[in-house]
Amino acid sequence: MEPNIAENLESVRAGINESERRSGRPAGSVELIAVTKTHPPEVVRQAVEAGQLLFGENRVQEAKAKIPELPAKLRWHLIGHLQSNKIRPALQLFEVIQGVDSVELLNEIQRIAGDLGLFPRVLLQVNVAGESSKFGFSPQKLLSQVEQISRADRVQVEGLMAIPPLAPSPENSRRYFVQLREFRDRLEMEFRFPLPHLSMGMSGDYLVAVEEGATYVRVGTAIFGERRAK
Ligand SMILES: *Cc1c(COP(=O)(O)O)cnc(C)c1O
Repeated sequence: MEPNIAENLESVRAGINESERRSGRPAGSVELIAVTKTHPPEVVRQAVEAGQLLFGENRVQEAKAKIPELPAKLRWHLIGHLQSNKIRPALQLFEVIQGVDSVELLNEIQRIAGDLGLFPRVLLQVNVAGESSKFGFSPQKLLSQVEQISRADRVQVEGLMAIPPLAPSPENSRRYFVQLREFRDRLEMEFRFPLPHLSMGMSGDYLVAVEEGATYVRVGTAIFGERRAK
């Protein structure tokens, strides 16, 4: 059966509102990123008709084909790993590059942004669980590289993102969300580095992420159903 995208969106939004309320956060503290990877433009259009304007894609190649097919008023975040040879198109397609995971990548973004006359917005990906399979700064490494990061002055670092380990229960993710928030608080305190955004929470655990301070949740399956095979 085809998923009812309008209905799913409504229920995800209601869940976010309820979690905001329950945790004493002002309504509208959290933005929903609808993750459309593997889904064709006509599926994205159904979400647009249901009032969704902010979307996430994880591959530059796929986004490059899809985004021009869709209304220009849509906003796109890159939520996957960015290869350095894709920076130029990524900066042209995406409003925010989530998942900047090394100083080398940040410096390349800085250089290419200079060529293009852009001031890109990014989040830094933190490997909170220390998984060798995941991209991201280890907290130690990020702490030791804050100076270098702040030198990339064209790039606006707006916060942190994380992808906790896949787990059977949303409660398993809570401690990683707490870690990401506390790590952000520490960076703000020690380095006076404002990092207002926390991108955390996916279909399985976004309600917990909202309770723990997410400002962006990235939700795909709960809106669009199972992803299509590539
Ligand atoms: C695919 C993806 C999501 C969405 O995952 P769902 O479980 O389908 O909600 C969120 N974040 C990232 C980085 C992703 O790659």
